[in-house]
Amino acid sequence: MNVLINPGHALYGNPDPGAVNYEVDVTESELAYAIGTKTADYLEKAGCETRVMQSHNLAGEAPEYPEVIGTANAWGADLFVSIHCNAGGGRGAETFCYDRYSSAVPCAKFIQNQLSASFPDDPGFRNRGVKYSPGLCVLRLTEMPAVLVETAFIDNPEDVRLLIEKTDVFAAAIARGVTDYWQMKVRS
Ligand SMILES: [Zn+2]
Repeated sequence: MNVLINPGHALYGNPDPGAVNYEVDVTESELAYAIGTKTADYLEKAGCETRVMQSHNLAGEAPEYPEVIGTANAWGADLFVSIHCNAGGGRGAETFCYDRYSSAVPCAKFIQNQLSASFPDDPGFRNRGVKYSPGLCVLRLTEMPAVLVETAFIDNPEDVRLLIEKTDVFAAAIARGVTDYWQMKVRS
């Protein structure tokens, strides 16, 4: 399986760092990149081919940014996984698909199941569920099943601690969700 991993926002945070937590001095783009590269490592070990391509994707693609959607389509990726951090108040993980009829819904559920089970000693880390967002270009313009994972809240003190200290746990959960999805596809 070919998996394109797309850490959200711009590489090195320039010009778009995504959400920023100034108290702990960390940006969404760097957290997403750290989780994305580790997710790719896990998937490679599981026998997948991966490409990691960060892009300024929520505002739409532009010539000066990586054409991540075009790359995924031209490569013939089997799955597109965009990785972000949430902001705006709250805790926990949620995973987006284009709509409820999207072929990516089972994958989103597998990833969401893994993420929500990742911190059993921290009941405050909520399972916010699978959600739908047809407006996101990475979900709308990709030709393969595509999900966008909001791993945790960068602006919440507990969640940002997890994002910094448990990068590996987020990556393992996303990778396991992807391989669960792929096994389901192979069997069906
Ligand atoms: Zn984002």
